Amino acid sequence: MAVPLIGITTSELRNPREHVNRPESEPPMRELALGLTYPQAIARAGGVPVVIPPFTSDESIAALLERVDGVCLAGGPDIHPSLYGQEPSDALGPTEPALDGSEIALTRMALDRDLPLLCICRGLQVLNVARGGTLIQDLPGHRQTEPGRLPTHSVRLEAGSRLAETMGTTELEVNSFHHQAIDVLGDRLRPTGWSEDGLIEAIEATDRDFVIGVQWHAEGLLDAVEQHALFDAFTAECARPRRRTRRSRAA
Ligand code: MN
Repeated sequence: MAVPLIGITTSELRNPREHVNRPESEPPMRELALGLTYPQAIARAGGVPVVIPPFTSDESIAALLERVDGVCLAGGPDIHPSLYGQEPSDALGPTEPALDGSEIALTRMALDRDLPLLCICRGLQVLNVARGGTLIQDLPGHRQTEPGRLPTHSVRLEAGSRLAETMGTTELEVNSFHHQAIDVLGDRLRPTGWSEDGLIEAIEATDRDFVIGVQWHAEGLLDAVEQHALFDAFTAECARPRRRTRRSRAA
């Protein structure tokens, strides 16, 4: 089986004043930020991670998607609510128009090509908005202060869902670093996991082979064997040879 190339979107764009610059390194500038846990989780599962910057043209996105075998949409800042037809609430966090535009376009184009997608935290929210869904702009109780490797709430998975089959269980303990969540679900998405307070914490595309979104940071929970299984299944799906046929169908 070929080793799959797996794109990972940038988590954040940071300004020079937000970090300490060493005198030996590059001059202060705007930077991409992505937690190392994402590429590490992909590499551990046997994929080659490819970090994706925000793109300004669909042609660049198309060229990238011709060459990668799947995409992981990473966590990050809030999505601007204008993308789902709402006014910003007072509790909206900072937003990044460059990330929003690039990720929504990339998600739609990856869906068109039936590429495997693993969407984490903001990634799940991007998937929902890309398919016409909306978000709760601010909610209490889901932003833990404990480190990311520690789960703080449980999630019930829908028996028989791709996610439950992949993880081999319908009860999970997960971490929680979000203050937003899915409100109205997007087209051809179905909920497959819920927290005790009824929030949707996992979704799947009903019309694609492997498009899974999880609201927790699975890449930070790799002490848990079920979370390994999620990355293993995603990487294995990306490595399947049928992707060639899929691409010619999209062309
Ligand atoms: Mn949560």
